Amino acid sequence: MRPEILYPLFANISSLKGVGDKAHKFLNTLLDGDKIVNLLWHLPSGIVDRSYSPKLVDAVAGRICTLKIRVIEHIPPKTSKQPYRVIVEDDTDQLELIFFKIYADSIKKNLPLGSTRIISGKIENYNGMWQMPHPDFIVKPEQFGTDMKKETVYPLTAGITNKMMCKFVQQALAKIPSFAEWQNKDFVKQQNWKDFKTALTNVHHPKYSTDLEPWCAERSRLAYDELLANQLALAIVRQKIKKQPGREIRGNGMLRKKVLESLPFELTSAQKNVLNDIYADQAEKFRMLRLLQGDVGSGKTIVALLAMLNAVECGAQAAIMAPTEILAKQHLDTIAPLAENIGLNIQLLTGRVKGKNRTQILENLENGDINIIIGTHALFQENVVFKDLAFVVVDEQHRFGVHQRLNLSEKGNKADVLVMTATPIPRTLVLTAYGDMEYSKIDQMPEGRKPTDTRVLPIDKLQDVVAGLKRKLAEGARAYWVCPLVEESEKLDLAAAEDRFAALQLVFGDKVGLIHGKMKEKDKDAIMEKFKKGEISLLVATTVIEVGVNVPEATIMVIEHAERFGLAQLHQLRGRIKRGNNASTCLLMYAPPLSETGKERLNIMKHSEDGFEIAEKDLELRGGGEILGTKQSGFTMFKIADMSVHKNLLHIANQDAKMILETDPKLETDRGNALRTLLYLFEKDDCVKTYKA
Ligand code: ADP
Ligand code: MG
Repeated sequence: MRPEILYPLFANISSLKGVGDKAHKFLNTLLDGDKIVNLLWHLPSGIVDRSYSPKLVDAVAGRICTLKIRVIEHIPPKTSKQPYRVIVEDDTDQLELIFFKIYADSIKKNLPLGSTRIISGKIENYNGMWQMPHPDFIVKPEQFGTDMKKETVYPLTAGITNKMMCKFVQQALAKIPSFAEWQNKDFVKQQNWKDFKTALTNVHHPKYSTDLEPWCAERSRLAYDELLANQLALAIVRQKIKKQPGREIRGNGMLRKKVLESLPFELTSAQKNVLNDIYADQAEKFRMLRLLQGDVGSGKTIVALLAMLNAVECGAQAAIMAPTEILAKQHLDTIAPLAENIGLNIQLLTGRVKGKNRTQILENLENGDINIIIGTHALFQENVVFKDLAFVVVDEQHRFGVHQRLNLSEKGNKADVLVMTATPIPRTLVLTAYGDMEYSKIDQMPEGRKPTDTRVLPIDKLQDVVAGLKRKLAEGARAYWVCPLVEESEKLDLAAAEDRFAALQLVFGDKVGLIHGKMKEKDKDAIMEKFKKGEISLLVATTVIEVGVNVPEATIMVIEHAERFGLAQLHQLRGRIKRGNNASTCLLMYAPPLSETGKERLNIMKHSEDGFEIAEKDLELRGGGEILGTKQSGFTMFKIADMSVHKNLLHIANQDAKMILETDPKLETDRGNALRTLLYLFEKDDCVKTYKA
């Protein structure tokens, strides 16, 4: 349970003054959440300096000036196209304020003739006359506060002005409680850091542009808080799994031998090396917890199967958990023929397996008739009981589900855990996503794979692309067409899958299908099945297909608005058309103009197919900046920390977390208690919960 001290920060933003239904909706999207704490993590991106307040005669055109003026004349517009003008003066010169499309009443009210006001805005010189279009503020002298000299600027979205954002953040800041320090106090002192509340408050009141840099002291403190929460959560999971005794799994190799003999190929040496790592872990008397990294198509599934067979040879059971039904079914399709061929009982258990069928599966899991079960998170529901589960594979693709690793392994009898990911992760990020987990890498592709012909094209070549597709599909090819979003979002000019689908239907008729994330699993499966069978030959998709769809006949992929995707994600997507040994083509379509970085990113895709190289480049180019679509790629896991800047802090946090658990494994000391709050603050709830078990 979340500690009470955090309640105010986890209250809904609608409890703030000025946040109505509309603002709530906009903020929820902008902040990626609707809690007060989400608002606090939304850090400023700039400062407007209003401290420049010259006399008009000395003013420099183009600068933001704060001026004390008298109102001397109102000039209402003669036609609706003209602006409303107000002439004002100081002791040295005159200035014309210009207002377009503003009600005369409100101008008269704010700038009464003869009154003195303080105004601020950008000043321009027009034919020898000073002008200020739309002052940023107009206040009475007695209302002017020194805090108005600096204005914090936030990243915004339509419907939320900077003024609103500042007001909301101020209210949110007032709700931060005084926390007991969760960091090592000497370390905080040594770094010259303030306490959490002060640091966060200061971050929202930047004075100089350096206060906006991720490496400034205040932001570093917060980044470290976040990194420690991250590393501690991972260390807790690891401790939980590792501290339990394991079992020595050493099968006789008979099943594995038969499967290997039935394969039409030899394992690559990378696969063999990885298997040796895994077999060695299994044979140890400790529990295994290992990460298996391998690019799309590198052959992880067969590795997982062989490791499972090692356990099955010892008379135990094994399980694979996949993040989606489609993926679970796909694993079944690959593994079942091989396993059944050697007389094993292998079944699928997902949320959709119901009734008698489900009862039977549950029974056979409990009595041990099922050797290998493949499923989704449905596998760790309470009523699922194994006779003797010794080996668990968690296929994460590129979602990182710390608590799921835990849950399923708890079903087992000292079960070993192999976590698989298809995301090539740069070294630094391995630490952030997996902590100190041992890991192996399949760094070699099976032989015979043909390179993909990747081309980068502007979106105005769309008609040519469609014409080309028409030819290819007529020859029997199958293709994906990927669009970034499901529905037209208001301001973002994203190609909507539904619109594209409708447009392509006009050309391809019933040969085109649509699949997107909001569809029911059943409907998704049905469409996938049709695509597999070739009943449809063009599949318009949102990024749902990213997650491991296997249709070897599909050799063409068009990605619309490729510039909006993370590189890792593009790489995953492209992996979909490299399942067989056929030549494949990937068309990356972008909307010009492309930024320099944008160009470079798409160029990398054109020239490299090495996932690890692409991932490193992605991290390097992305730096602290944000790119649409990276969220789905699983890499942007941090609200504040920035891996291109805070790498060192990450390593310190890693050591710190280890030491904390060595000296205070149950988080019972004062610092331990404070650290629990930290874990909840960064929403690592699942990990803290394990302490109650
Ligand atoms: P992923 O790592 O993406 O899960 P898979 O395990 O699905 O990759 O393998 C992709 C394809 O490559 C499958 O069709 C599989 O049978 C095949 N494959 C796996 N290992 C080899 C190998 N050593 N040589 C040739 N083909 C292989
Ligand atoms: Mg073992």
